[in-house]
Amino acid sequence: MAIKITDECINCGACEIKCPNKAIYEGGKEWSFSYGTSDSQFKKNNGQIVGSFDLQKPNSDSVYYIVTEKCTECVGFHDEPQCISVCPIDCCIPDENFKETEEELKEKKQTIQIR
Ligand code: SF4
Ligand code: SF4
Repeated sequence: MAIKITDECINCGACEIKCPNKAIYEGGKEWSFSYGTSDSQFKKNNGQIVGSFDLQKPNSDSVYYIVTEKCTECVGFHDEPQCISVCPIDCCIPDENFKETEEELKEKKQTIQIR
């Protein structure tokens, strides 16, 4: 499953620089698939197809947030989710709403195609 950040986040930014998929963004900042990827189109969780350079609304205005469509739980990069490892207050937790198998996560990593 993807990882999510809870409202307890203290906005230290430690997780953002550790994410191999560039799936973590500061609260209030727009995100895009193209940031850290090379795909031209992406399918969002709601089925909508968007251009990878299109700016998307922030998932949170106040704390750092994770884009579930870009989170692979670090599969293919690290043995454990890096955001969970570095968060000083343990507010990166599994998102029960986005469960994916190891195989699905590997495919997702291939799709993201990190530059
Ligand atoms: S689990 Fe890995 S890929 Fe997902 S948001 Fe955390 S650091 Fe990024
Ligand atoms: S490491 Fe934890 S506290 Fe720091 S920005 Fe990330 S989620 Fe928030």
